[in-house]
Amino acid sequence: MQTNILGYPRIGSNRELKKANEAYWAGKISLEKLQLTARQLRRQNWETLHNAGIDLIPSNDFSYYDQILDMCVMTGTIPARFKALKESLVTPSSPELYFAMARGYQKNGFDATAMEMTKWFDTNYHYLVPEFDASQKYQLLYNKCLDEFKEALSLGIQTKPVLIGPVSFILSGKIKEEGLQTAGLLDKLLPVYIQLLQSLQQAGATWVQLDEPTLVLDQTPEHQELFHYAYTQIREAVPALKILLATYFGGLQDNTSLAIQLPVDALHIDLVRAPEQLDDILAAFPENLQLSVGVVNGRNIWKNNYEQSLQLIHKAIAALGKDRVMIATSCSLLHTPYDLDLETDETVLTPQIKNWMAFAKQKVHEVIALKDIIAGNDTLLKDNQATMLERSTAAIIHKPAVKARLAALTAADAQRKSTFPARQKAQEEILKLPLFPTTTIGSFPQTEDIRKLRADFKKGVINREEYEKDIRKAIQDSVQLQENLRIDVLVHGEFERNDMVEYFGEQLEGFVFTKNGWVQSYGSRCVKPPVIYGDVQRSAPMTVEWSSYAQSLTNKPMKGMLTGPVTILQWSFVRDDQPRSETTLQIALAIRDEVVDLEKAGIRVIQVDEPAIREGLPLREADWQTYLDWAVKAFRISVSGVEDATQIHTHMCYSEFNDIISNIAAMDADVITIETSRSQMELLEVFSTFRYPYEIGPGVYDIHSPRVPTVEEMTVLLEKATQLLPARNIWVNPDCGLKTRKWPETEQALRNMVAAARNMRVAITATA
Ligand code: GLN
Ligand code: ZN
Repeated sequence: MQTNILGYPRIGSNRELKKANEAYWAGKISLEKLQLTARQLRRQNWETLHNAGIDLIPSNDFSYYDQILDMCVMTGTIPARFKALKESLVTPSSPELYFAMARGYQKNGFDATAMEMTKWFDTNYHYLVPEFDASQKYQLLYNKCLDEFKEALSLGIQTKPVLIGPVSFILSGKIKEEGLQTAGLLDKLLPVYIQLLQSLQQAGATWVQLDEPTLVLDQTPEHQELFHYAYTQIREAVPALKILLATYFGGLQDNTSLAIQLPVDALHIDLVRAPEQLDDILAAFPENLQLSVGVVNGRNIWKNNYEQSLQLIHKAIAALGKDRVMIATSCSLLHTPYDLDLETDETVLTPQIKNWMAFAKQKVHEVIALKDIIAGNDTLLKDNQATMLERSTAAIIHKPAVKARLAALTAADAQRKSTFPARQKAQEEILKLPLFPTTTIGSFPQTEDIRKLRADFKKGVINREEYEKDIRKAIQDSVQLQENLRIDVLVHGEFERNDMVEYFGEQLEGFVFTKNGWVQSYGSRCVKPPVIYGDVQRSAPMTVEWSSYAQSLTNKPMKGMLTGPVTILQWSFVRDDQPRSETTLQIALAIRDEVVDLEKAGIRVIQVDEPAIREGLPLREADWQTYLDWAVKAFRISVSGVEDATQIHTHMCYSEFNDIISNIAAMDADVITIETSRSQMELLEVFSTFRYPYEIGPGVYDIHSPRVPTVEEMTVLLEKATQLLPARNIWVNPDCGLKTRKWPETEQALRNMVAAARNMRVAITATA
């Protein structure tokens, strides 16, 4: 029986690649130094896997920035706007071109914007979206894949090169050439793939892994046909190369018969996300095919439950025999942190919780352990069973009070006292806001001073008293400024928050943080998600003091600012011993307690941010509604404990929700603020067909840029909005929080924004 790892993290156990990339971009280290770091990281990874005894060790899973970008450069998928730059360079594989495509390029007379970035399936990893345009000639510009295969070979390690498969490569991109169809594009790209694969075959590669994760998505018959076509051609061209077709992040479902009939040597399936697919697949599995069973989860940080994995592996062995089964991780380990052994601070991660966890390096050993257990090593299994048993009953995880509260939830808990029209009236009476009320989304510029203040407090350089004094000062200044600018609904500025999820996670029971649990988000950017290990509960108010203090400084309404349950879930590593929906409802109850306490403290407007609701959508449309139902319910539970006159806001950083608009409405928030300025309010189109009854603040200026928008352009945007929405329901606000901006531009932009709102009020009274 063989063991198989689909991919390994590449940033380095101490984020060496991040640091080297950033130093190189800043001109602080040479290209040679960067390349040396990269070689060392590749070598470390290969040796880790080799020494652990893994049979199929990935190569070409390394990337300076992103593996899809690598494929673009390898195949000549260079967007037209980089053509001149490319031609000015000596080698097409030049890092100058590569990083220009990733990050944009504005020097030496060139000016090209970066390629678009988007989330890789339902992960928090962002890839660069390939752009297929008419200027491109697809050809093997350089062969990174072969270079890295040979590099490993020179170290005495035979690897399995990993590539994004041709169909998923195309489907993950955008065709920008008029008249070009997917099939035509495949015809152009296949020769490049074939040339690449032939070079690997020639260099002595035995296995190659082609990732086709789009096989777990809903596919049209035309797209299904593309797989047949591509793999038939590939098979003919490289008859001696063994092809492992990798699917992950979901089940094959209606693509099962397609996938198992493709002329490849092994099929990899994700049995963590979709264990139920195993029976169907085995029932129809062809004679000559091997099966790689992905049982060790590449998406979380928990120890594998060997007993559960063994059941699946044994089932596969019973049907196919040991020789045809590989034990594998569910997907690439790119989405997990490097090495749990580096977590040595017991005050951060207690030994008890640490013993439930496994990072990438530990997961590799789990794959080996499963093989060893099948070979008869009982101790490994017994130890694992003991850990699982201890975890399943641990008092720090299982809190009867939380479970009882969840069990006692009724429909009334997800329901405000009155319907929106009555609430709107009650809120108008108490808040007395003008038409086109102005507000901001929550955070104000996070200056160097503010960051240092938080860091100093965390390190113990200053005490709580000093820290709070300075935060209060920042709040005072921001309230003063908002008063001067005559903003209608004020915010305190979120100066005390490092991150909108971490801030709450640090105060809630059931969360733990790691010191070094970094995962790549995009390029050199890494995130360290909180870990939800147990039942969630709020032991004390989290924001009430800051919000009340801010409210005490002004007669205008001060908006309380919270992060919603779905977003907290979505941006954390989530426990795997209960459904996500249940964890979300627990968080919802904790947020509900906070909302109620804010109201008690005299806060009349409360915003619960849910920027991650849309990205939580399941990969298959058939599963959407179930998710949306519990996500919406969780939001409603978190905000429904208040009186009619308390105004509930929510915020999302996008407004592409045409397909889920009825669910957005079902959230029943009194006010929603969304991002719309970059699309020039085009995204509001949906409101021409869907009657959205609530108040809404379509962002009038883009906070991603330091540019100060003029009064006129914001007025124009608001006029557009009045054509689609009743004036009574329109709010005036920026697209998102202002934490990444600087104060001078923020002040000027807000001044203009308030002036635009005034213009609108005058215009409305004139017509009335
Ligand atoms: N209230 C948050 C802020 O202003 C919202 C951030 C977000 O939407 N991602 O920073
Ligand atoms: Zn936002």
